[in-house]
Amino acid sequence: MQTSQQTDWIKPPFSLPQTLENFIDGQHQPALKAQTLDLYHPASGRQYGTLPESTAADVQFAVEAAQRAFPAWAALTAQARSAAMLRLADVMEANLELLAQAESFDNGKPVHVARTVDIPRAISNIRFFATAILHTSQEAHDSGNGVLNYTLRQPLGVVACISPWNLPLYLFTWKIAPALAAGNTVVGKPSEITPLTAYLFSGLCREAGLPPGVLNILHGSGASVGTPLVGHPQIKAVSFTGGTATGARIASIAAPQFKKMSLELGGKNPTLVFADCDFDTTVKEVARAAFSNQGQICLCGSRILVERPIYERFREAFVARVASLKVGDPQHADTAIGALVSKAHQEKVLSYIELAHAEGGNLLCGGEVLQPEGLEGGYFVSPAVFEGLDPWCRSNQEEIFGPVVTLFPFDTDDEAIHYANSTQYGLAASVWTSNLGRAHRVARELESGIVWINCWMLRDLRTPFGGVKSSGVGREGGWEALRFFTEPKNVCIQF
Ligand code: NDP
Repeated sequence: MQTSQQTDWIKPPFSLPQTLENFIDGQHQPALKAQTLDLYHPASGRQYGTLPESTAADVQFAVEAAQRAFPAWAALTAQARSAAMLRLADVMEANLELLAQAESFDNGKPVHVARTVDIPRAISNIRFFATAILHTSQEAHDSGNGVLNYTLRQPLGVVACISPWNLPLYLFTWKIAPALAAGNTVVGKPSEITPLTAYLFSGLCREAGLPPGVLNILHGSGASVGTPLVGHPQIKAVSFTGGTATGARIASIAAPQFKKMSLELGGKNPTLVFADCDFDTTVKEVARAAFSNQGQICLCGSRILVERPIYERFREAFVARVASLKVGDPQHADTAIGALVSKAHQEKVLSYIELAHAEGGNLLCGGEVLQPEGLEGGYFVSPAVFEGLDPWCRSNQEEIFGPVVTLFPFDTDDEAIHYANSTQYGLAASVWTSNLGRAHRVARELESGIVWINCWMLRDLRTPFGGVKSSGVGREGGWEALRFFTEPKNVCIQF
């Protein structure tokens, strides 16, 4: 793995690679056209390195490597594939601190979040699918009269896994793990904005002895490398997580070629707070659901609907809680809110804060650009809470994907459900109530792939994960992911 001299303006507590490379056929290499993009450290706004700007030529090279590796990888027993993936997970575990520091450095998130959430979860993704594959079975149907049908679930071949910048290694491995476990070979493309941990991960794959070509990682922008990857005729399936507009572009390329697609897209998630909730826990958890990872999680609850009898009490407690969240250096243990991921994203978030003002919103706290000492060029915005906005205005309809939420009151269950379902999105919702009957009723009515009752982002990797409406197509997680990455074949025997 290539490393170069540490930057003098900041001393990351790990050996920082400054020239990232693609990983093809088990080897690191620059893009064939030798073009690069700049990499930025969000907490200071300083450029720290470069990544390859790959093109269709690199896609061709990576797909060929993956095709060569496919027959042997697919022919391994499930136990052998599982063992190779478990070795990889062990090597990741041994490098947990390095990966956590790198994730925080590249993304701007607090390092304690990367250390306790992102990287442990990335390791669990690999372990989960490495062991899930040992417990799969394929269906058989005894049709009577001497006829037996059975279903073979075979790997697809070479698949593409494209992931976003908000939970970089966590979401990259969430796709790669089931694809590999099911016997496919992979060409992966992490976000150009946060490629560092995927680059380090490629080195760990080599260290763990993953056979060359089984996993190939291409870096670069969506336009330059993502598009030709999705359109490559030998790519059999595309697993994508990112924005809804990008998902639509990907679908327009992949669908006419009849590729399998799993699209995990945006959200504008409602949080429904009923007057009978456990008040103190709800205030704390709703703030966590709103602002974890600087509000840059597709599952964050950004439209907070509160039943009118407790609206004012909730608003007061919630705003006090949010205002107490410390915004600052991602390295500090008491930092709750780190830097936003990029200058462009900071500008997008600030433009939505301006829009919310223009739409008549009343800002209750936050929404300011902050400049922590020593990190004056960083992309920090304090968590913003608005009220007084119409549920159908743009601030309440469009995904901001940052630390901006709105509060509004409701009077009846039906009204809450109506507001909750009023956007084009349908990814996740949370419901806070002590009335069990109401919890079940509301959960059924919400147009959402996931509903959490009295909790948020409790994840069991066996459950189906994904959204409805413009939040996506298909489900990840557990058997859903293993089904996606295999092709069922019916075999019918008369004997
Ligand atoms: P983008 O859609 O901009 O990018 C996602 C990935 O797709 C990146 O790797 C990007 O590359 C790549 N890409 C961009 N254009 C193309 C293209 N034409 N063909 C192929 N690949 C392309 O999303 P963000 O990275 O900005 O992530 C934020 C979005 O992700 C939010 O909308 C959020 O809601 C969503 N998201 C959804 C989740 C879910 O599970 N439903 C989970 C997490 C995030 P590059 O960045 O290098 O240009």
